[in-house]
Amino acid sequence: MELSNLAVPSVYVLIFFLAYTSQWLLKDLEPAPPTEGEYIRFNILLICLLISYTRSVFVDPGHIPTMHEHEKGPANDVSDNFPSQSRPDNTNGHRKWCRKCNLPKPPRAHHCRTCGRCIPKMDHHCPWTANCVSHTTFPHFLRFLFYAVASLAYLASLLWPPIAHLWHNRNMPSYLGPSMLQLVHLFALCVGDFVMLFALGILLVRNIWSLAVNTTTIEGWEIERHATLVRRARYFGGWLEGPGGVQVRIEKQEFPYDVGIWTNCKEGMGTGNVSAISLSIIQSSEKGYMPLPYPVAHCCHMVSRPSLPRRPSLTFR
Ligand SMILES: [Zn+2]
Ligand SMILES: [Zn+2]
Repeated sequence: MELSNLAVPSVYVLIFFLAYTSQWLLKDLEPAPPTEGEYIRFNILLICLLISYTRSVFVDPGHIPTMHEHEKGPANDVSDNFPSQSRPDNTNGHRKWCRKCNLPKPPRAHHCRTCGRCIPKMDHHCPWTANCVSHTTFPHFLRFLFYAVASLAYLASLLWPPIAHLWHNRNMPSYLGPSMLQLVHLFALCVGDFVMLFALGILLVRNIWSLAVNTTTIEGWEIERHATLVRRARYFGGWLEGPGGVQVRIEKQEFPYDVGIWTNCKEGMGTGNVSAISLSIIQSSEKGYMPLPYPVAHCCHMVSRPSLPRRPSLTFR
């Protein structure tokens, strides 16, 4: 059994430890157990967390439709997707081709070695969900981060009163306080809560930023690489040496998918419905894809996407 197969069960065990053993411990600690309202609010957050995490793990990250699927698809889709001329030697030099899948690689798609196929709008392959964060799984992944951070912050607020009480009574005889086992349990919960809150908080902010600017992790690296090339080229009159000693003109290109925060958020979350964005239980999946304002095959081919605005004169490859 590979170690990576243990990642998802480990996350469920960690959620169980932090979320449920804490509730069992807190009911016996002074100054007072959490109130009924606090238990209810905490458990609602935990239900949302478990649903969004489970969806991040099990929702299909999508695939690039094969020629066969396109031939079977609706007639009005065919012209926008894979025309029969889009073979590698007839690609007029613009389309990328995945040699491993032997299929065209649409803009924003990348080949994931772990999933073994090209993934639409791939962000990264997350080892903790054992799934790609992609066009279809990003909303679940973001909600998972949000509910994880909210649950951890709420747990911190529940852990604080007993810790403050212990500190206040630190000079009292130890037999009047909690047992050694309870103290170790409380300490482990505090460390786990703090570490996870810090790590997932950073990840949440980073992913909200990604959503707002409509830039995946891989595209972020590409933008950085491009900026470095442009900086270097400035010293050589806008030219750099390419493969085989060929001089290549380097021009600054603007990233074309950032079309305004609200439109970016709608596209990234697959809906403009605010309640559907925040509640993972509402947003459903249909044949592995979530409902989107445009067909997923169009999204794979941003050049032909009909319903969202785009700056037509800009290219980013
Ligand atoms: Zn591929
Ligand atoms: Zn993957």
